[in-house]
Amino acid sequence: MNIELPKYEEVLDHGFVGLLEVMGSDDSIDQAARVSYGKGTRKVSELKGLINYLMRHHHTTPFEMVEIKFHCKMPIFVARQWVRHRTANINEYSARYSVLNNEYYIPDQDHLCMQSTTNNQGRNDIPFDDIAYAEYKANIKSISDNAYKIYEYLLNDPEDPKSNSERDGIARELARMVLPLNFYTQWYWKIDLHNLFHFLKLRMDSHAQYEIRVYADKMYELIKPHVPVACEAFEKYQLNGMNISGDEVGILKEIIDEYLEISGATLEEMADYLSHNLSKRELREFCDKFK
Ligand SMILES: Cc1cc2nc3c(=O)[nH]c(=O)nc-3n(C[C@H](O)[C@H](O)[C@H](O)COP(=O)(O)OP(=O)(O)OC[C@H]3O[C@@H](n4cnc5c(N)ncnc54)[C@H](O)[C@@H]3O)c2cc1C
Repeated sequence: MNIELPKYEEVLDHGFVGLLEVMGSDDSIDQAARVSYGKGTRKVSELKGLINYLMRHHHTTPFEMVEIKFHCKMPIFVARQWVRHRTANINEYSARYSVLNNEYYIPDQDHLCMQSTTNNQGRNDIPFDDIAYAEYKANIKSISDNAYKIYEYLLNDPEDPKSNSERDGIARELARMVLPLNFYTQWYWKIDLHNLFHFLKLRMDSHAQYEIRVYADKMYELIKPHVPVACEAFEKYQLNGMNISGDEVGILKEIIDEYLEISGATLEEMADYLSHNLSKRELREFCDKFK
């Protein structure tokens, strides 16, 4: 499929995600798995079947054949979470070399909330009223603008027409230390599809902080048209699937056994009856898991 790139999407108040390049497609995954199987000689359903199989059984390396490069701009506190994903290649804007812009993040009213009382790591979902929001917003704005003023003061470039002093400024690599975490940075971020799915699974999840989740959501939207079959498999087996513990499996087994005893049906019969979209092979695999 030929989709014009780069394609940019706005995120938060000053951020963006740009999809710059995609190397590979669903065919590259298929081809890697078959080790040079001739292109175009099998049906779409076979491609789907193979990619689903790979995803289901964690045969991950064929997905690494697709490489994706993004250009992203995000608040520094979002970048700090993002950078924990070690399998990407990053090249970040250098605030040692260049001056940062006066651009910082202020959450909109729907997303400025109090600390959650049930989740130590997050916020509750009740936004502040107009008056409280206006006050918080004004305070965040004031401290950010002041920090930027001090940044400019420290940098003091006598060549700059705005400068009102002859003294030399301090180095950019030091002046930046006064800027808060809500200032924006940007980078090029390149990753393969397997590791991107891992990132997306963690960062599209409702437990991830809203401010990184919105980036992950946009990235997923941008790559979907390039690898639609792989994305469908990702949704089916990873995004909408779940890991359960041994104890939880025990509970499910007991519930199933009890139900089968009451109904008089076999597991295969029940699974076949409720099959949803499972293929025959998947149904067999499902039954094997609970035997
Ligand atoms: C909701 C949420 C809350 C979080 N809270 C915190 C927190 O409070 N504090 C905190 O510090 N972090 C926190 N994190 C970050 C988290 O612990 C991980 O660092 C981050 O999600 C990256 O995951 P990863 O290591 O699997 O990913 P990647 O770095 O992308 O690695 C992908 C996979 O490659 C393998 N891998 C990569 N590098 C190595 C290596 N050097 N050695 C062995 N295997 C490797 C691992 O299998 C890994 O799963 C949080 C993450 C999430 C999603």
